[in-house]
Amino acid sequence: MRLILLGPPGAGKGTQAKLLAEKFNIQQISTGDILRQAVKNKTKMGLKAKSYMDQGKLVSDNVVIGIIKDRLDNADCSKGFILDGFPRTIQQAESLSQALKQMEIDIDYLIDIEIDFNYLIQRLTGRWTCRECGEGYHKMSNPPKKKGVCDKCDGELYQRDDDKEETIQKRFEVYRKETEPLKDYYQKNGKLNAIKGDGGIQEIFSRITNLIT
Ligand code: ADP
Ligand code: ADP
Ligand code: ZN
Repeated sequence: MRLILLGPPGAGKGTQAKLLAEKFNIQQISTGDILRQAVKNKTKMGLKAKSYMDQGKLVSDNVVIGIIKDRLDNADCSKGFILDGFPRTIQQAESLSQALKQMEIDIDYLIDIEIDFNYLIQRLTGRWTCRECGEGYHKMSNPPKKKGVCDKCDGELYQRDDDKEETIQKRFEVYRKETEPLKDYYQKNGKLNAIKGDGGIQEIFSRITNLIT
């Protein structure tokens, strides 16, 4: 099973990707999570990416395409994978399709989570993320069992720097300009499946699993 999740910031891509990865025993590949790990570890790539991320801008195509090619080459992706947060530009989509062609594999489903922008501010400003494993929580809709602590790994939960209201607006702007055109791009080769992103986490999970099984 090879999947791509599209959708604006806060649509629930990370949340659904983790559930799908568990259910189908496939790898979740989140460029956002990989970049945040690099920032945390102060690698060269992380130091360079940080200022873009903090401003709500995209990290350069070359960097994220490099990350994805590396990951896809890894043996653990041979059983399948789910891309969450990649591709985000037409150039990324084209590089991905070339890389897949070279590997002689194809994407099974591309799922676009569609949701009204009004919901997203609340989702993003209430989001708590695990510093260790990247698991996502929400202070109202998806709280951890113990405040400030990750259910999965006991890691510390924190609020992402880019989940502040002014940065969120910038990320929406970038989404509309750079990422939304991907819907047309994928529609043309008949791959796009839109699902509604309102409702509870399990409800959306059922919509996706009904679509792909
Ligand atoms: P994305 O990866 O698309 O930016 P996330 O999966 O991180 O989005 O979700 C954003 C926030 O909204 C998180 O705090 C998450 O716990 C919460 N969330 C995700 N899906 C839902 C949902 N269906 N209903 C309510 N809150 C949700
Ligand atoms: P969200 O889940 O809210 O959509 P992500 O965790 O996917 O956010 O991404 C956080 C930040 O990491 C982005 O604002 C951007 O700076 C960078 N980033 C993640 N994925 C990509 C990508 N495919 N291309 C460029 N930048 C990316
Ligand atoms: Zn954790």
